[in-house]
Amino acid sequence: MKLDWLDPHTINADLHCHSIASDGTLTPDELARRAKDQGVELWALTDHDELSGLPIAQEAATDLGLNFVPGVEISVTWAGDTIHVVGLNVNYRDGVLFESLENMRKVRVSRAQQIGRDLEKHGIKEAYEGALQYVKNPSLISRTHFARHLVNSGVCSEMREVFTRYLTPGKPGYIPTDWASLREAVTWINGAGGYAVLAHPGRYRLSELQMDALLTQFAELGGQAIEVVTGSHTVDQYREYARKAIVKGLKASRGSDFHSPEESRVNLGELPRLPDGCVPIWDNWANLPFP
Ligand code: AMP
Ligand code: MN
Ligand code: MN
Ligand code: MN
Repeated sequence: MKLDWLDPHTINADLHCHSIASDGTLTPDELARRAKDQGVELWALTDHDELSGLPIAQEAATDLGLNFVPGVEISVTWAGDTIHVVGLNVNYRDGVLFESLENMRKVRVSRAQQIGRDLEKHGIKEAYEGALQYVKNPSLISRTHFARHLVNSGVCSEMREVFTRYLTPGKPGYIPTDWASLREAVTWINGAGGYAVLAHPGRYRLSELQMDALLTQFAELGGQAIEVVTGSHTVDQYREYARKAIVKGLKASRGSDFHSPEESRVNLGELPRLPDGCVPIWDNWANLPFP
């Protein structure tokens, strides 16, 4: 890591994105190249419940002289809702993390088969087989793959429409799933030497009271930071979650959540700076011995 010559408050850090190892459309090395071209100075790959893209991403970043942080985005069930916890600087050779994620990917396969059956009941035939056409990593299937199939087969006109009409609570193709607990996700990440970051909190449909409880519990369990600046937040939410991070003694992270040049609104590295008063999660990373 050569971060000591970069100002932590102006560094272009992008610590959240997806490759074909989960539901992105670019390979890890294409992402590394794109991050570099976009002026990203500190980059993390954070595939859903999957580590297999990390060695290639790391090698590509090293070749490009790009500071790389191995990451992951873990699906969590909290108070009946799905939330996401990003792990940064995880050792991708950690056995507990590896096996735990392997189990989650198996759950994803049976869930996907159930999604297919449920969509069939609602008149959409062979959606599972259709989704599989978009899966690049045979061990990871997500709702995004179904969404791509439903758009490209003409059932919906765009990805957003898929998630308003299907695949979400109360809609056809929604299968409630028991993901990891918050404690498990944070423990696996910390156990693999990583920092736990609560991803895009503005997306969760939680009451003010529930959000407060989530942040308190997350900090108590060993969570380190909130994703304050993300492609999923509005400008008002940057300020709102910056305040919450400061109040809870949590650091702040920044990430585009880039999935695809065609689908993502926010490109790699194309985000505003963290609001004043936030402590960047990378503030003490200059000499960190990343694996
Ligand atoms: P899964 O982890 O299989 O439940 O799939 C979640 C993924 O679906 C997210 O990471 C997003 O990539 C995608 N997704 C969820 N909601 C939306 C939405 N409203 N528009 C586009 N993509 C979405
Ligand atoms: Mn995704
Ligand atoms: Mn997410
Ligand atoms: Mn993501």
